[in-house]
Amino acid sequence: MNDADDPVAFHDALAAHGLILPTGVPGGYGRGAVFEDILQRFNELVSREAADDGAESLTFPPVVARGLIEKVGYLDNFPQLAGSVHSFFGGEAEAKALSARVQAGERWEDLLDITGVMLTPAACYPVYPLFSGRLRPGGRLVSVLNWVYRHEPSAEPTRLQSFRMREFVRVASTDEVVAWRDAWLERAMQLLQSLELPVASDVAADPFFGRGGRFLAASQREQRLKFEILVPIVSQQKPTAICSFNWHQDHFSSVFGIRTAGGEMASTACLGFGLERVTLALLRHHGLDPLQWPAGVRQLLWPDPATPRPSARCPTTS
Ligand code: ATP
Ligand code: ZN
Repeated sequence: MNDADDPVAFHDALAAHGLILPTGVPGGYGRGAVFEDILQRFNELVSREAADDGAESLTFPPVVARGLIEKVGYLDNFPQLAGSVHSFFGGEAEAKALSARVQAGERWEDLLDITGVMLTPAACYPVYPLFSGRLRPGGRLVSVLNWVYRHEPSAEPTRLQSFRMREFVRVASTDEVVAWRDAWLERAMQLLQSLELPVASDVAADPFFGRGGRFLAASQREQRLKFEILVPIVSQQKPTAICSFNWHQDHFSSVFGIRTAGGEMASTACLGFGLERVTLALLRHHGLDPLQWPAGVRQLLWPDPATPRPSARCPTTS
């Protein structure tokens, strides 16, 4: 990084280059073609790295059943981050009343009611219910990529309300799951170092809510259940997590009744690359024009130079 820590200046520079497109929603900016190309290329690099692992690639919509969020304890642990979908269920008269309130500039949201879905808070959540019952020997390995929602509005470009997570999920015996998590921590460090990012790994904790949450976070750290790979993006003092590794022990397996082939309670773990954050880390460390990035980094992300690249022209100023 060549200038002092200044998240607002970084945000404005990204916007001036058309890399991000301000929408008026804090943490809800759009992505320009160059930003998106970097993000997709990094995701493809992850896929090439993991190609021999044989993960099943599954795709889910960015909404999950309300019951799933309730069951996994999300509202007990992270109510401050949850996003709930509401909609209109009324008839003609109620629709008129709704429209009149909107036109008058009055609040109208209390005329909506709760739907059966919530916004997906982590890409891995829809995976666990699939494996209720006995696993095959060796367990399962799944790859998912999804938009996730977290209610943490911020002007800081690395803290988004809606962003993408590329995750791998392992469901197997405790020994298998822990060995997999340890191997991936090493592997992800090497992958990010190969992109010339100054990464470090550390034990971490989730942002559990409230006073009770502080105890849960301390216990999570003590048991070394969560690790993060961090890199300075908007602050040298407080580096940003770009990849997280979570060992859930039997949290999801007990909720969904997942057992190993041998009949033991299964264990689960996931690792997630925050795709926007990796993109922002690359832009921060190598500059706002990917054509000027170090040759080794470019070679890893754009191995096929024949592939057309999106124009670097700024769509907001062209
Ligand atoms: P869970 O433990 O609930 O399964 P998870 O492990 O899949 O969740 P986190 O560890 O909270 O999810 O986040 C995964 C990655 O997503 C982080 O390492 C980070 O890169 C990215 N991320 C998290 N929050 C944000 C945010 N507000 N904006 C952008 N990226 C984020
Ligand atoms: Zn996860």
